[in-house]
Amino acid sequence: MNPLDDLYQDLLLEHKRRPRNYGRLQCAHHGATGHNPLCGDTVSLQVAERDGSVAEIAFEGEGCAICIASASLLTEAVKGRPVAAAKQLSAAMHELLTQQGPPQEAQQAALGKLAALQGVRRFPSRIKCAMLAWRALDQCLNAAAPASVDAEDGSHARVTS
Ligand code: ZN
Repeated sequence: MNPLDDLYQDLLLEHKRRPRNYGRLQCAHHGATGHNPLCGDTVSLQVAERDGSVAEIAFEGEGCAICIASASLLTEAVKGRPVAAAKQLSAAMHELLTQQGPPQEAQQAALGKLAALQGVRRFPSRIKCAMLAWRALDQCLNAAAPASVDAEDGSHARVTS
């Protein structure tokens, strides 16, 4: 069965083909890398925070369509948002993918395009693929206040699913 065989597959495949905000930031405050050994996905996320908001965000990595599309949608969704709102979005994504029962309308409305990832719920082994970038985002946003502007500094965190 194809995990993307649902209503939203076009959107996800388009993000896989043409990922948004792909690359490295010149000036990142936080970085985290997530690995999902079950699928072989790796995603590195970088965040530059300004005035309590996610001013810049970029990712790079290799993975399945779900993993890359989720990371791409993530960057699009949180760029420019206050850090607190980005954290809420991450929590909402986690809930969407792990809750019992179908998502509520209000939930879907709050997630916007990200609701496209709900099809993954039918494939429990792929939920980690969809969550990988979000877990890296949590690591970035929960890190200490921006101190270093060196993208390669020692604060680079690692997440393992
Ligand atoms: Zn995967």
